[in-house]
Amino acid sequence: MRTLITGGCGFIGSHLAEALVAAGDEVTVLDDLSTGRIENIASMEGNARLRTLIGSVTDEALVHEAVKGCDQIYHLASAVGVRLIMDKPVETIDTIVTGTQTVLKQANRYRKPVLLTSTSEVYGKSTAVPFDEDGDRLSGPTTKHRWAYACAKALDEFLAMAYWKSTRLPVVIVRLFNTVGPRQTGQYGMVVPNFVRQALAGEPLQVHGDGAQSRCFCHVADVVRGLTGLMNCTSARGQVINLGATEEVTIAELARRVVAQTGSQSEIRPIAYDEVYGEGFEDMQRRVPSIAKAKRLIHWQPQRSLQDIIADVANENGADTKG
Ligand code: UDP
Repeated sequence: MRTLITGGCGFIGSHLAEALVAAGDEVTVLDDLSTGRIENIASMEGNARLRTLIGSVTDEALVHEAVKGCDQIYHLASAVGVRLIMDKPVETIDTIVTGTQTVLKQANRYRKPVLLTSTSEVYGKSTAVPFDEDGDRLSGPTTKHRWAYACAKALDEFLAMAYWKSTRLPVVIVRLFNTVGPRQTGQYGMVVPNFVRQALAGEPLQVHGDGAQSRCFCHVADVVRGLTGLMNCTSARGQVINLGATEEVTIAELARRVVAQTGSQSEIRPIAYDEVYGEGFEDMQRRVPSIAKAKRLIHWQPQRSLQDIIADVANENGADTKG
């Protein structure tokens, strides 16, 4: 199987590339290295089954060439993380919308199956947890830029569904919830790598707001297994499927668990949202997936716990934890 992974040098994309190369696929990764890093695919250096294309998913000629030569596409390339969305408001919308338009157009031209990764952000401020794929979305105003990410990704989903409905292009849309594990950088605001790094450095762990907001953290290896399972599942075509963990933890509790598990002396320090993201920032209070659909389609459920995740991220940073 010849597989194209856009965003293949990113955190999730590189783990997916490793899994597919190990399974015998010929993998092409397409990445502009904006947030992805070439070191992420270093373990496959010199492997004849890996080809690397450095460039943007908005480059039509490059995408055309890459799509033409493959059998299936995992479209992961996207701006990620709230921090980046807030810092680069124009570029992030452009990459998300134009990139997906370009990939879907070329995929349709050559009739190649596409798995599009979307995000739990699309549920927005909905409080109907656990989030069900068919549930309503609740977005904030356009003056609050955080919601641009959710809207841009929702538009990507609409476009993919439109191709499915109008031409039966095989598309699978996967909404990823908080995904964590080795190689995720804390640079774009993600909480687990930030907390682990701070705990190991003896620096304060900065908890935004009152820390009562909660998340469910899923190990990237579980997510990769879900992605490949869904790509290979013909009944998943034309569907939206959540992938995420169901073990819910508040951010304050997460901070305590990271400190305890790494044996750190760090203090846990609250910091106002406005100080981190500027005035008027709105957060999601709870983000919990319903994974009934993934279970039904591919018998998927996470196998790794939050303790495993903290241990893996800490070990990557040179710690010897009690995980
Ligand atoms: N967060 C925090 N300290 C940090 C980074 C993030 O308290 O150093 C909070 C953030 O405000 C959010 C939660 O942790 O409420 C998860 O943040 P992340 O960016 O990892 O994921 P998302 O908000 O996209 O779910």
